[in-house]
Amino acid sequence: MEQISTEFEKLVKKQKLTCDQTQINIDKLINQINDAKQKIENDNSQSSTTLTILTSKLKTLSSQVIDNHKELYSSISKYSKSIDKKLKINLDSIWKPNVLQGKEDTLNSILMSHFIREGQFELAEVFSKESNIPISNELKNQFQDLFNIVEAIKRKDLGPALKWAADKRELLKKNNSNLEFELHKLQYIQYLINNDIPSAIQYAKKNFGLFGETNFKDIKRLACSLLYIKNLDTSPYSDLLAPSLWDDIESQFKRDFCSIYGFSSESPLYTAVMVGASSIPPLIKIDTILKVTKNIDWSATSELPVEIPLLDSQRYHSVFACPVSKEQVDCNSKDNYPKMLLCGHIISNESLLALCKGNNIYKHKFKCPYCPTESIEAQTRRVYF
Ligand SMILES: [Zn+2]
Repeated sequence: MEQISTEFEKLVKKQKLTCDQTQINIDKLINQINDAKQKIENDNSQSSTTLTILTSKLKTLSSQVIDNHKELYSSISKYSKSIDKKLKINLDSIWKPNVLQGKEDTLNSILMSHFIREGQFELAEVFSKESNIPISNELKNQFQDLFNIVEAIKRKDLGPALKWAADKRELLKKNNSNLEFELHKLQYIQYLINNDIPSAIQYAKKNFGLFGETNFKDIKRLACSLLYIKNLDTSPYSDLLAPSLWDDIESQFKRDFCSIYGFSSESPLYTAVMVGASSIPPLIKIDTILKVTKNIDWSATSELPVEIPLLDSQRYHSVFACPVSKEQVDCNSKDNYPKMLLCGHIISNESLLALCKGNNIYKHKFKCPYCPTESIEAQTRRVYF
Protein backbone atom coordinates (compact mmCIF):
# COMPACT_ATOMS: atom_id res chain seq x y z
CA MET A 1 0.00 0.00 0.00
CA GLU A 2 2.78 2.36 1.01
CA GLN A 3 4.64 1.64 -2.20
CA ILE A 4 1.51 2.34 -4.23
CA SER A 5 0.92 5.67 -2.50
CA THR A 6 4.58 6.68 -3.03
CA GLU A 7 4.19 5.82 -6.71
CA PHE A 8 0.98 7.83 -6.79
CA GLU A 9 2.70 10.85 -5.22
CA LYS A 10 5.46 10.58 -7.85
CA LEU A 11 2.83 10.41 -10.58
CA VAL A 12 0.99 13.48 -9.29
CA LYS A 13 4.27 15.41 -9.10
CA LYS A 14 5.15 14.36 -12.65
CA GLN A 15 1.67 15.29 -13.85
CA LYS A 16 2.01 18.74 -12.33
CA LEU A 17 5.44 19.24 -13.88
CA THR A 18 4.19 18.14 -17.31
CA CYS A 19 1.13 20.38 -17.08
CA ASP A 20 3.26 23.36 -16.03
CA GLN A 21 5.71 22.66 -18.87
CA THR A 22 2.85 22.30 -21.39
CA GLN A 23 1.33 25.55 -20.19
CA ILE A 24 4.69 27.30 -20.67
CA ASN A 25 5.06 25.82 -24.17
CA ILE A 26 1.53 26.81 -25.19
CA ASP A 27 2.14 30.36 -23.91
CA LYS A 28 5.37 30.40 -25.95
CA LEU A 29 3.43 29.20 -29.03
CA ILE A 30 0.88 32.00 -28.62
CA ASN A 31 3.64 34.59 -28.15
CA GLN A 32 5.50 33.39 -31.26
CA ILE A 33 2.32 33.67 -33.36
CA ASN A 34 1.56 37.14 -31.99
CA ASP A 35 5.15 38.28 -32.62
CA ALA A 36 5.03 37.00 -36.22
CA LYS A 37 1.65 38.71 -36.76
CA GLN A 38 3.08 41.98 -35.45
CA LYS A 39 6.19 41.65 -37.65
CA ILE A 40 4.12 41.01 -40.82
CA GLU A 41 1.82 43.90 -40.00
CA ASN A 42 4.82 46.22 -39.59
CA ASP A 43 6.75 45.00 -42.63
CA ASN A 44 4.85 43.00 -45.24
CA SER A 45 7.90 42.43 -47.44
CA GLN A 46 9.47 40.05 -44.88
CA SER A 47 6.30 37.99 -44.45
CA SER A 48 7.56 34.84 -46.18
CA THR A 49 10.79 34.70 -44.10
CA THR A 50 8.84 35.43 -40.91
CA LEU A 51 6.38 32.60 -41.69
CA THR A 52 9.20 30.12 -42.41
CA ILE A 53 10.87 30.93 -39.08
CA LEU A 54 7.50 30.72 -37.31
CA THR A 55 6.69 27.32 -38.82
CA SER A 56 9.97 25.83 -37.66
CA LYS A 57 9.53 27.29 -34.14
CA LEU A 58 5.97 25.98 -33.95
CA LYS A 59 7.12 22.52 -35.02
CA THR A 60 9.73 22.38 -32.23
CA LEU A 61 7.30 23.62 -29.57
CA SER A 62 4.43 21.37 -30.63
CA SER A 63 6.68 18.31 -30.69
CA GLN A 64 7.78 19.20 -27.14
CA VAL A 65 4.12 19.33 -26.04
CA ILE A 66 3.45 15.95 -27.68
CA ASP A 67 6.53 14.40 -26.03
CA ASN A 68 5.46 15.68 -22.62
CA HIS A 69 2.08 14.07 -23.02
CA LYS A 70 3.48 10.79 -24.24
CA GLU A 71 5.64 10.64 -21.13
CA LEU A 72 2.69 11.43 -18.88
CA TYR A 73 0.40 8.81 -20.41
CA SER A 74 3.09 6.17 -20.25
CA SER A 75 3.54 6.80 -16.50
CA ILE A 76 -0.24 6.70 -15.94
CA SER A 77 -0.54 3.36 -17.68
CA LYS A 78 2.48 2.02 -15.76
CA TYR A 79 0.81 3.09 -12.50
CA SER A 80 -2.47 1.36 -13.25
CA LYS A 81 -0.59 -1.80 -14.22
CA SER A 82 1.37 -1.65 -11.00
CA ILE A 83 -1.87 -1.36 -8.98
CA ASP A 84 -3.32 -4.38 -10.76
CA LYS A 85 -0.15 -6.34 -10.08
CA LYS A 86 0.18 -5.40 -6.40
CA LEU A 87 -3.47 -5.69 -5.44
CA LYS A 88 -3.96 -9.11 -6.90
CA ILE A 89 -5.34 -10.58 -3.71
CA ASN A 90 -8.28 -12.76 -2.98
CA LEU A 91 -10.53 -11.06 -0.45
CA ASP A 92 -13.01 -13.95 -0.24
CA SER A 93 -11.31 -15.44 2.81
CA ILE A 94 -11.60 -12.32 4.96
CA TRP A 95 -14.94 -10.81 4.15
CA LYS A 96 -18.36 -11.90 5.22
CA PRO A 97 -20.87 -11.01 2.50
CA ASN A 98 -23.86 -11.50 4.79
CA VAL A 99 -22.66 -9.31 7.59
CA LEU A 100 -24.83 -6.34 6.55
CA GLN A 101 -27.87 -8.36 5.58
CA GLY A 102 -31.01 -6.96 7.25
CA LYS A 103 -29.03 -3.94 8.45
CA GLU A 104 -29.56 -1.82 5.35
CA ASP A 105 -31.32 0.95 7.32
CA THR A 106 -28.47 1.18 9.81
CA LEU A 107 -25.97 1.32 6.98
CA ASN A 108 -28.01 4.02 5.22
CA SER A 109 -28.19 6.15 8.39
CA ILE A 110 -24.43 5.81 8.81
CA LEU A 111 -23.93 6.90 5.20
CA MET A 112 -26.24 9.87 5.64
CA SER A 113 -24.50 11.00 8.84
CA HIS A 114 -21.23 10.75 6.94
CA PHE A 115 -22.50 12.97 4.10
CA ILE A 116 -23.67 15.55 6.65
CA ARG A 117 -20.38 15.41 8.51
CA GLU A 118 -18.52 15.98 5.25
CA GLY A 119 -20.68 19.03 4.45
CA GLN A 120 -22.46 17.27 1.54
CA PHE A 121 -25.87 18.59 2.60
CA GLU A 122 -27.58 18.41 -0.80
CA LEU A 123 -26.38 14.85 -1.28
CA ALA A 124 -27.73 13.98 2.19
CA GLU A 125 -31.17 15.42 1.25
CA VAL A 126 -31.34 13.36 -1.97
CA PHE A 127 -30.07 10.27 -0.16
CA SER A 128 -32.68 10.75 2.56
CA LYS A 129 -35.49 10.81 -0.02
CA GLU A 130 -34.19 7.81 -1.94
CA SER A 131 -33.45 5.64 1.08
CA ASN A 132 -36.50 6.74 3.13
CA ILE A 133 -34.28 7.54 6.10
CA PRO A 134 -35.36 10.81 7.75
CA ILE A 135 -32.61 13.37 7.83
CA SER A 136 -31.63 14.65 11.27
CA ASN A 137 -32.17 18.40 11.08
CA GLU A 138 -30.39 18.93 14.37
CA LEU A 139 -27.26 17.21 13.07
CA LYS A 140 -27.55 19.01 9.75
CA ASN A 141 -27.85 22.45 11.39
CA GLN A 142 -24.92 21.77 13.69
CA PHE A 143 -22.63 20.77 10.84
CA GLN A 144 -23.92 23.58 8.65
CA ASP A 145 -22.81 25.96 11.42
CA LEU A 146 -19.43 24.22 11.56
CA PHE A 147 -18.89 24.43 7.80
CA ASN A 148 -19.96 28.09 7.64
CA ILE A 149 -17.45 28.97 10.35
CA VAL A 150 -14.69 26.87 8.75
CA GLU A 151 -15.37 28.54 5.38
CA ALA A 152 -14.97 31.93 7.08
CA ILE A 153 -11.66 30.78 8.63
CA LYS A 154 -10.49 29.77 5.16
CA ARG A 155 -11.26 33.32 4.01
CA LYS A 156 -9.18 34.53 6.99
CA ASP A 157 -12.29 35.89 8.70
CA LEU A 158 -12.14 34.88 12.35
CA GLY A 159 -15.31 36.75 13.38
CA PRO A 160 -17.79 33.84 13.32
CA ALA A 161 -15.31 31.47 15.04
CA LEU A 162 -14.64 34.04 17.79
CA LYS A 163 -18.34 34.56 18.34
CA TRP A 164 -18.95 30.81 18.61
CA ALA A 165 -15.99 30.36 20.99
CA ALA A 166 -17.25 33.21 23.22
CA ASP A 167 -20.73 31.63 23.33
CA LYS A 168 -19.25 28.27 24.32
CA ARG A 169 -16.60 29.72 26.66
CA GLU A 170 -17.63 27.70 29.72
CA LEU A 171 -17.90 24.42 27.81
CA LEU A 172 -14.51 24.99 26.16
CA LYS A 173 -12.99 25.69 29.58
CA LYS A 174 -14.42 22.42 30.87
CA ASN A 175 -12.71 20.61 27.99
CA ASN A 176 -9.40 22.36 28.78
CA SER A 177 -9.51 23.96 25.34
CA ASN A 178 -7.57 27.16 24.61
CA LEU A 179 -9.42 27.70 21.33
CA GLU A 180 -10.76 31.16 22.18
CA PHE A 181 -7.31 32.46 23.09
CA GLU A 182 -5.73 30.93 19.97
CA LEU A 183 -8.35 32.68 17.82
CA HIS A 184 -7.68 36.05 19.50
CA LYS A 185 -3.95 35.44 19.11
CA LEU A 186 -4.34 34.90 15.36
CA GLN A 187 -6.52 38.00 15.03
CA TYR A 188 -3.84 40.02 16.88
CA ILE A 189 -1.16 38.63 14.55
CA GLN A 190 -3.13 40.00 11.57
CA TYR A 191 -2.63 43.52 12.96
CA LEU A 192 1.11 42.81 13.29
CA ILE A 193 1.25 41.64 9.68
CA ASN A 194 -0.49 44.84 8.60
CA ASN A 195 2.00 46.93 10.62
CA ASP A 196 -0.93 48.37 12.55
CA ILE A 197 0.50 48.85 16.07
CA PRO A 198 -2.36 50.97 17.52
CA SER A 199 -5.01 48.44 16.49
CA ALA A 200 -2.88 45.54 17.77
CA ILE A 201 -2.49 47.23 21.18
CA GLN A 202 -6.17 48.11 21.32
CA TYR A 203 -7.16 44.55 20.40
CA ALA A 204 -4.84 43.07 23.02
CA LYS A 205 -6.17 45.43 25.72
CA LYS A 206 -9.74 44.54 24.89
CA ASN A 207 -9.41 40.78 24.52
CA PHE A 208 -6.36 39.32 26.26
CA GLY A 209 -7.40 40.24 29.81
CA LEU A 210 -9.66 37.20 30.08
CA PHE A 211 -6.71 34.90 29.46
CA GLY A 212 -4.20 36.58 31.80
CA GLU A 213 -4.17 33.61 34.15
CA THR A 214 -4.06 30.79 31.64
CA ASN A 215 -1.95 32.25 28.83
CA PHE A 216 0.27 34.84 30.52
CA LYS A 217 3.47 33.61 28.82
CA ASP A 218 1.89 33.72 25.36
CA ILE A 219 0.49 37.21 25.96
CA LYS A 220 3.92 38.46 27.09
CA ARG A 221 5.47 37.09 23.93
CA LEU A 222 2.76 38.61 21.72
CA ALA A 223 3.31 41.98 23.39
CA CYS A 224 7.10 41.81 22.90
CA SER A 225 6.69 40.95 19.25
CA LEU A 226 5.52 44.54 18.70
CA LEU A 227 9.15 45.64 19.16
CA TYR A 228 10.08 43.74 16.00
CA ILE A 229 7.09 44.72 13.93
CA LYS A 230 9.26 46.16 11.14
CA ASN A 231 11.20 42.92 10.61
CA LEU A 232 9.08 40.24 12.19
CA ASP A 233 10.13 37.61 9.63
CA THR A 234 13.80 37.73 10.70
CA SER A 235 13.04 38.22 14.40
CA PRO A 236 12.76 35.60 17.17
CA TYR A 237 8.99 35.93 16.65
CA SER A 238 9.00 34.81 13.02
CA ASP A 239 6.97 31.71 14.00
CA LEU A 240 3.96 34.02 14.46
CA LEU A 241 3.90 34.46 10.69
CA ALA A 242 3.76 30.73 9.88
CA PRO A 243 0.94 30.07 7.37
CA SER A 244 0.39 26.73 9.13
CA LEU A 245 -1.25 28.66 12.02
CA TRP A 246 -4.37 28.90 9.84
CA ASP A 247 -4.48 25.15 9.20
CA ASP A 248 -3.87 24.53 12.91
CA ILE A 249 -6.71 26.80 13.99
CA GLU A 250 -9.04 25.21 11.44
CA SER A 251 -8.40 21.70 12.69
CA GLN A 252 -8.49 22.79 16.33
CA PHE A 253 -11.83 24.48 15.70
CA LYS A 254 -13.27 21.35 14.05
CA ARG A 255 -11.99 19.16 16.88
CA ASP A 256 -13.35 21.36 19.68
CA PHE A 257 -16.66 21.90 17.90
CA CYS A 258 -17.18 18.14 17.52
CA SER A 259 -16.08 17.47 21.07
CA ILE A 260 -18.63 19.95 22.51
CA TYR A 261 -21.49 18.38 20.58
CA GLY A 262 -20.30 14.88 21.49
CA PHE A 263 -19.08 13.84 18.03
CA SER A 264 -15.80 12.17 17.26
CA SER A 265 -13.43 14.54 15.50
CA GLU A 266 -13.36 12.32 12.39
CA SER A 267 -16.36 10.78 10.65
CA PRO A 268 -16.89 7.29 12.16
CA LEU A 269 -17.48 5.84 8.69
CA TYR A 270 -14.19 7.30 7.43
CA THR A 271 -12.35 5.86 10.45
CA ALA A 272 -14.02 2.46 10.01
CA VAL A 273 -13.11 2.31 6.32
CA MET A 274 -9.51 3.40 6.92
CA VAL A 275 -9.07 0.91 9.77
CA GLY A 276 -10.73 -1.80 7.68
CA ALA A 277 -8.47 -1.13 4.71
CA SER A 278 -5.29 -1.20 6.79
CA SER A 279 -6.44 -4.46 8.42
CA ILE A 280 -6.73 -6.33 5.12
CA PRO A 281 -3.04 -7.25 4.59
CA PRO A 282 -2.40 -8.62 8.14
CA LEU A 283 -5.72 -10.49 8.12
CA ILE A 284 -5.01 -12.14 4.78
CA LYS A 285 -1.59 -13.15 6.05
CA ILE A 286 -2.84 -14.63 9.32
CA ASP A 287 -5.76 -16.33 7.56
CA THR A 288 -3.36 -18.13 5.22
CA ILE A 289 -1.05 -19.13 8.08
CA LEU A 290 -3.87 -20.39 10.34
CA LYS A 291 -5.55 -22.37 7.57
CA VAL A 292 -2.33 -23.96 6.36
CA THR A 293 -0.71 -24.73 9.73
CA LYS A 294 -3.66 -25.37 12.02
CA ASN A 295 -6.65 -25.64 9.73
CA ILE A 296 -8.40 -22.99 11.80
CA ASP A 297 -11.00 -20.62 10.42
CA TRP A 298 -10.65 -17.54 12.63
CA SER A 299 -13.61 -15.76 11.04
CA ALA A 300 -15.93 -18.13 12.91
CA THR A 301 -14.93 -16.53 16.23
CA SER A 302 -15.90 -13.03 17.33
CA GLU A 303 -12.33 -11.90 18.00
CA LEU A 304 -9.55 -10.92 15.65
CA PRO A 305 -6.70 -13.43 15.73
CA VAL A 306 -3.94 -10.80 15.80
CA GLU A 307 -3.50 -7.23 16.89
CA ILE A 308 -3.87 -4.86 13.95
CA PRO A 309 -1.33 -2.03 14.00
CA LEU A 310 -3.20 1.29 13.84
CA LEU A 311 -2.25 4.95 13.72
CA ASP A 312 -2.58 6.84 17.01
CA SER A 313 -5.41 8.89 15.51
CA GLN A 314 -7.35 5.67 14.89
CA ARG A 315 -7.18 4.44 18.47
CA TYR A 316 -10.26 4.84 20.61
CA HIS A 317 -10.17 3.55 24.13
CA SER A 318 -13.13 5.20 25.77
CA VAL A 319 -14.38 1.73 26.69
CA PHE A 320 -12.21 -0.88 28.32
CA ALA A 321 -13.19 -4.53 28.29
CA CYS A 322 -11.14 -6.79 30.54
CA PRO A 323 -9.57 -9.47 28.35
CA VAL A 324 -9.89 -12.02 31.19
CA SER A 325 -13.45 -11.50 32.42
CA LYS A 326 -14.61 -10.07 29.02
CA GLU A 327 -16.61 -7.53 31.02
CA GLN A 328 -16.72 -3.84 30.30
CA VAL A 329 -14.93 -1.99 33.06
CA ASP A 330 -15.56 1.61 34.04
CA CYS A 331 -12.25 3.48 34.32
CA ASN A 332 -13.68 5.73 37.05
CA SER A 333 -15.17 2.94 39.15
CA LYS A 334 -14.18 2.72 42.82
CA ASP A 335 -13.46 -1.03 42.97
CA ASN A 336 -13.18 -2.49 39.51
CA TYR A 337 -10.95 -0.47 37.22
CA PRO A 338 -8.25 -1.28 34.65
CA LYS A 339 -4.80 -2.10 36.01
CA MET A 340 -1.59 -2.45 34.05
CA LEU A 341 0.76 -5.23 35.02
CA LEU A 342 4.56 -5.05 34.97
CA CYS A 343 4.61 -6.35 31.37
CA GLY A 344 2.21 -3.69 30.09
CA HIS A 345 -0.81 -5.96 29.72
CA ILE A 346 -3.98 -4.53 31.21
CA ILE A 347 -6.68 -6.43 33.09
CA SER A 348 -9.45 -5.42 35.47
CA ASN A 349 -8.80 -5.15 39.21
CA GLU A 350 -11.28 -7.97 39.91
CA SER A 351 -9.41 -10.28 37.52
CA LEU A 352 -6.17 -9.30 39.22
CA LEU A 353 -7.60 -10.24 42.65
CA ALA A 354 -8.79 -13.53 41.20
CA LEU A 355 -5.24 -14.26 40.02
CA CYS A 356 -4.03 -13.89 43.62
CA LYS A 357 -6.55 -16.56 44.65
CA GLY A 358 -7.10 -15.20 48.15
CA ASN A 359 -3.40 -14.85 48.92
CA ASN A 360 -2.08 -11.62 50.35
CA ILE A 361 -2.19 -9.44 47.26
CA TYR A 362 0.65 -7.27 48.47
CA LYS A 363 3.11 -10.17 48.64
CA HIS A 364 1.78 -12.75 46.22
CA LYS A 365 3.52 -13.07 42.85
CA PHE A 366 1.11 -13.78 40.01
CA LYS A 367 1.64 -14.55 36.36
CA CYS A 368 0.15 -12.35 33.63
CA PRO A 369 -2.65 -14.23 31.81
CA TYR A 370 -1.11 -13.18 28.47
CA CYS A 371 2.64 -13.57 28.87
CA PRO A 372 5.12 -15.25 31.24
CA THR A 373 5.87 -12.06 33.22
CA GLU A 374 5.24 -12.18 36.96
CA SER A 375 4.19 -9.14 38.96
CA ILE A 376 3.29 -8.23 42.52
CA GLU A 377 0.51 -5.78 43.32
CA ALA A 378 2.93 -2.93 44.06
CA GLN A 379 4.25 -3.16 40.51
CA THR A 380 0.83 -2.69 38.92
CA ARG A 381 -0.61 0.68 37.94
CA ARG A 382 -4.13 1.94 37.68
CA VAL A 383 -4.78 3.27 34.18
CA TYR A 384 -7.31 5.67 32.71
CA PHE A 385 -8.51 5.69 29.12
ZN1 LIG B 1 1.77 -9.75 30.22
